[in-house]
Amino acid sequence: MLARILGPLITAAVMAVAPASAALRVVATTTDLAALAVAVGGELVSVESIVPSATDPEAFEPRPGDLDKVRRAVLLVRVGLGYDYWLDALVEQIGDQRLMRGGDAYLDASVGIPLLEIRGQSVTNEGGHSHGVANPHYWLDPETAVIVTAGLAEALVRLAPEQRERIAANRQRFLTELKLRRERWNELLAPFAGVKLIAYHNSWPYFARRFRLDIIDFVEPKPGVAPSPAHLSQLISEGRKMRVRAVLHEPYEPEDASRLVARKLDVPMVLLAVSVGSVPGTGDYLSLLDHNVAALVGALSPTGRQVR
Ligand SMILES: [Zn+2]
Repeated sequence: MLARILGPLITAAVMAVAPASAALRVVATTTDLAALAVAVGGELVSVESIVPSATDPEAFEPRPGDLDKVRRAVLLVRVGLGYDYWLDALVEQIGDQRLMRGGDAYLDASVGIPLLEIRGQSVTNEGGHSHGVANPHYWLDPETAVIVTAGLAEALVRLAPEQRERIAANRQRFLTELKLRRERWNELLAPFAGVKLIAYHNSWPYFARRFRLDIIDFVEPKPGVAPSPAHLSQLISEGRKMRVRAVLHEPYEPEDASRLVARKLDVPMVLLAVSVGSVPGTGDYLSLLDHNVAALVGALSPTGRQVR
């Protein structure tokens, strides 16, 4: 199960050192939070995620086995902001106070994150897409991993206070590596500051803010809504006027429209990973960012290979 969800890297890291029976069972709604839980929990945790990484997380519906997974969680970690709104129904059905908001086993990873696109609306389930409260794709900014891992460490210490030092040491090791990589990512993307891009889905505001990229518009007119020919032609003329340099595309979205826009603008279409495991070679959190930075730099560089 882990192998399917998180890929071989994380499985190897967890399985090699953590017999499942002795470990704290962490259940995360997404592979990204699962990967960060592995980074902080190390050998103390066994980690599972719920949404398969290669599918559209915002169109996800829980399967029968997911209820049991949640029920058995010692720590339940969610993205929040309506992204994984379906979790509330599962938790309600289980009826265990531990797993509910405010409970010892409950962690909303969005707490403390400086949010973008805050709308002041309540969360709705319309169409399975939920950018209602704020944009939920915060983990794509590597800086937010500092905050998310702080929340994870605090929750794990609360559950296993005798492991405080090991948890802190695990997190520190991760943060040290994250800092090194961030310097490298900044260096690689610095020459492209201010570059104008179009994206299929509004997945990248946090990533774009961190690396000073300018996403001017989206192939989808709204999250989860396919583009009309009129929207595409307006997008293409806007893209020409603004000198857009690439079209960002998420792996599970239909490709035709993104390809068309890229071809008309004579720019590359870049496949970026929205989640750990959503494209090959993104088996943990740092390699997710490595992949996205390298793919973007490759596409924007003069010698970049154009995906058509
Ligand atoms: Zn979204």
